[in-house]
Amino acid sequence: MDYRLPLGISIGFCGEDFYKNLEEAKKNGFEYIDFDIASSWRNPEKEEKYYRDLEKGIAAVRDAGLKINAVHLSFGIRWDPAGRWPRKRKKIVDRLVEIIRRLDPYGPFLYVLHGSFEPIGKLSRKRRKKNLLASLKILCAATKNTICLEILPRTCLLNTSAEAIEILDRAGEQNLKICLDTNHFLQEKTEDAIIALAGRIATTHVSDHDYVDERHLLPGQGKIDWNAVLAALEKTGYKGVFNYELKYPQLAEAKANYERLFEEYNKKKRA
Ligand SMILES: [Zn+2]
Repeated sequence: MDYRLPLGISIGFCGEDFYKNLEEAKKNGFEYIDFDIASSWRNPEKEEKYYRDLEKGIAAVRDAGLKINAVHLSFGIRWDPAGRWPRKRKKIVDRLVEIIRRLDPYGPFLYVLHGSFEPIGKLSRKRRKKNLLASLKILCAATKNTICLEILPRTCLLNTSAEAIEILDRAGEQNLKICLDTNHFLQEKTEDAIIALAGRIATTHVSDHDYVDERHLLPGQGKIDWNAVLAALEKTGYKGVFNYELKYPQLAEAKANYERLFEEYNKKKRA
């Protein structure tokens, strides 16, 4: 039987472009979107402004005839759940809980969370993991929805499948899973990580890279072996959304890319 996953794309909640992109997504045959409220993380004033309108954004997704797969929670230095300073960290967790409580009634959907900001030095890694685990306890208790920790690149926490498994196992929370970002693996092949993470992946961020750093390119423009990635996803029984997360939301291109990837994969499988 052919393997196929529901199609989605991340759209940044940042002004009028958001509403235009929703329309485009619907027109191009997307079923889901990731409601990305983190896209103004470099600009606190803008971020605050958009936060006031989160409910309006959610309503617009529904009005456009789309479904929300996940809400991408904020990240960055002002949002680090593994941050060093206890008082600052408590404020961050309180703020995340406040946002989760506001959005939960519009679910069910997943939340995507970055487990840390960076850089994280070798000596502080252990301590930062402990901080993240303490924050996760509060965050997971605040919602019945599932929180997905994202695989991250460079020195961030969860920068390998092994560390992701370690964090999930130590947390021991029912509603804690992984968001597989295909272009964030710098120390192992994406397909190998998928096999290692079997059963723990609840959603995806799909894009290509060169295994040097994240690039958020269209699949095929980087070095990822997409037939191997799809084979690994199928083998591990992944049935969640195939959610594109690109540098620029190229909706028509992403849709064509999705059709080609799955067609090629299934053709090869049949042969
Ligand atoms: Zn991502």
